[in-house]
Formats: sequence, C-alpha cells, structure tokens
Amino acid sequence: MISGPSGAGKSTVVFKAIEGRTDFCFSTSVTTRKPRPGEVDGREYFFIDRARYDEMVRQDELLEHAEYVSNGYGTPRAYVEQKLSEGMNVVLDIEIQGARQVREKMPDAVMIFVIPPSMEELRRRLVSRGTESLEVIEGRIRRAKQEYAEADFYDYLIVNDDADRAAADFAAIVRAEHLRAKDRLQLLNGGHL
Ligand code: 5GP
Repeated sequence: MISGPSGAGKSTVVFKAIEGRTDFCFSTSVTTRKPRPGEVDGREYFFIDRARYDEMVRQDELLEHAEYVSNGYGTPRAYVEQKLSEGMNVVLDIEIQGARQVREKMPDAVMIFVIPPSMEELRRRLVSRGTESLEVIEGRIRRAKQEYAEADFYDYLIVNDDADRAAADFAAIVRAEHLRAKDRLQLLNGGHL
C-alpha cells in the first residue's frame, strides 16, 4: 500500500520503480470523484456515481473504502484477491483510513507513506497541476496535515524530492520485503523457494 497526499507523486514513483516488471499490478479503485481532464474510466479509476458506490459498500464488494475531501473511494475486492492468489504483488494507492482497514484484514501488507519535500512544495504542485479549485486545494492540504499526524503506523516513509531516488527507495523496500527470513526458512533446510 502506498499512501500520501495527493500531489506527493506516488504514482510516478511506483511506475518508475516497477517499469518492465511482470510480477506487479495495480489495483484500480472506484471513486465518486469526477474525472480530471485526461483521466480515463477504467485506467486511473472506475468513475461511478454515489448510488453504485453505496451499493458496492453494502454488498461488501470493496476490500476497503473511505471518504476523501467529499468523495468516496474504494478498492474492489475481487481483483486484489485474484491477483494475490496468482502470486502477484498488488499495489494499492489509497489514503490512510483505507490503509488501516487493509492492514486489519491483511497484516502482512507493506505500508509505505510518500511525502513531498514540504507543504509549500505540495501546494505549489497542486496549484501548478491546475485541475482543482483553490478551495479544493486548501481542503487537500488540510487533509494532508491530518494524515501526517496519524501516519506513524506506516512501515516506511519516502520523501519524494527526486523521483528517481524515491523510485529507488521503493524498489529497495520491495527487495528487502522479499528477503524476509520468515518467508524463506525452507532455504535453511536445503529447500527451494
Ligand atoms: P485523487 O482524487 O487525488 O486521485 O485521490 C485522492 C486520495 O484518495 C489519494 O490519497 C489516494 O491515495 C486516495 N485513494 C485513491 N483510491 C483509493 C481507494 O480505493 N481507497 C482509499 N481509501 N483511498 C483511495
């Protein structure tokens, strides 16, 4: 799971880190937010209305879900479960309340928090993206500050001041997590993975 304020550059970091790897996939979330210019339904998100979202919540079709600055977001359960059962690494780009829910259900999930070098830089990135009103940007900054105050349960913290370095940090975390002794004990007995 990768979390951090909108504008921290999470998806850039992850895409850079896993480029060309076939053992990774991304979970595509549902959201009630309207698409930004350039966003495509089924690629960045499945864009759905509130009624469908509420129904997915009721039918337990979402692994986790949360409200973020007046919109609902959620992770479709079936895709994640299918890919995990195929042995894939599944990346979820989700905010902190959702990350908490996933950790409860999947204690082995690795939690990474990505932040921009400063709040000023975050504001600058959100303004220069030009896709949100100043009011929404202020809402996102307030939300980012709240998230920082609660993010101490994450396993890793990456500062995205340079996308290449941040991607290398992400790759290092993935590599280390795959070397955990508890998942490799058979090697100690002459076995194979
Ligand atoms: P944005 O509107 O900028 O695409 O995303 C806003 C926030 O929602 C980001 O922090 C992003 O990580 C989070 N988010 C995206 N998809 C999901 C999801 O499926 N569940 C949860 N809990 N958060 C999500």
